[in-house]
Amino acid sequence: MTIAVLGGAGYIGSHTVAQLVKAGEDVVVIDSLITGHKAAINPAARFYQGDVRDREFLRSVFSKEKIDGIIHFAASSIVPESMADPLKYFDNNTYGMIALLEVMNEFGIKQIVFSSTAATYGEPKQVPIKETDPQVPTNPYGESKLAMEKIMHWSDVAYGVKFVALRYFNVAGAMPDGSIGEDHHPETHLIPIILQVAAGTRDGLQIFGDDYDTPDGTNVRDYVHVVDLADAHILALNYLRAGHDSTAFNLGSATGFSNLEILKSAREVTGKTIPAEIGPRRPGDPSTLIAASDKARDVLGWTPNYDNINDIIATAWKWHETHPEGFGDR
Ligand code: UDP
Repeated sequence: MTIAVLGGAGYIGSHTVAQLVKAGEDVVVIDSLITGHKAAINPAARFYQGDVRDREFLRSVFSKEKIDGIIHFAASSIVPESMADPLKYFDNNTYGMIALLEVMNEFGIKQIVFSSTAATYGEPKQVPIKETDPQVPTNPYGESKLAMEKIMHWSDVAYGVKFVALRYFNVAGAMPDGSIGEDHHPETHLIPIILQVAAGTRDGLQIFGDDYDTPDGTNVRDYVHVVDLADAHILALNYLRAGHDSTAFNLGSATGFSNLEILKSAREVTGKTIPAEIGPRRPGDPSTLIAASDKARDVLGWTPNYDNINDIIATAWKWHETHPEGFGDR
């Protein structure tokens, strides 16, 4: 049994590859390295560099390797960038899914675990958000991922390709041994930005808006540790291997933290002042995103190990403190 991880050199992908290897799986990593890092790829995985939209490339990999299942992370994932350049998102993400499913069909690969997102829900009518709630994205990133979910659904109906869509809320943290972590260029996510300021590699922090309808006026998000998230992919893979039907699961902690609470926690963990100012709202940001993730807990048996935001930030801090330039390849 060989698992192909597309986007296995990225942040969540590399942690998932490491967890798959620990679980004894045979792993192939496919990554364009446009945003991923070669040094993030677990050395036990066989690596092929190329783009998910390149059918010939996918065919060449699937001809060499006997792939039984796919975990698909290879996508663009920055909300503000998607607002400015939506076609990039529909091309890389949505069109990439079409190319992948076509080649999966050619090779008879029938199982895919997919990185979806809370951004598919848009501005929720109620929190915590359930998997059955309406999906009305407020940005092209979420729209591109929702389209990918729908494409997988109809491919299941027509060709019997089974999928699990994992709808992530906010992901944070790093491998606790400090070996791999988050390294985006540019970095747009709150926790790594805060920690770069703490580490002295970035000047200041802007909190985007304090006039939202939340207790302190700043956005509220639900944070999950990246290793807990990685483990959910292995459970999802085993769920498909057991012959279950296609479905979606939210992955969150059911607890929300405001942007100011995250800043406070980072100050506690790092012992640094971390200067911050309030700036304007960022276009496309829903006010509050909190997951109901009972379904993943009940059906997949997912039990996250991290339930304390300071512990999550502490693992990220260990990475940022020891790798101020990230993987150092940009
Ligand atoms: N955020 C912020 N300043 C930054 C980066 C992010 O205030 O420099 C806020 C952002 O507006 C949102 C929250 O942090 O309310 C989480 O954003 P992030 O980009 O980390 O993840 P998202 O929720 O967009 O997936």
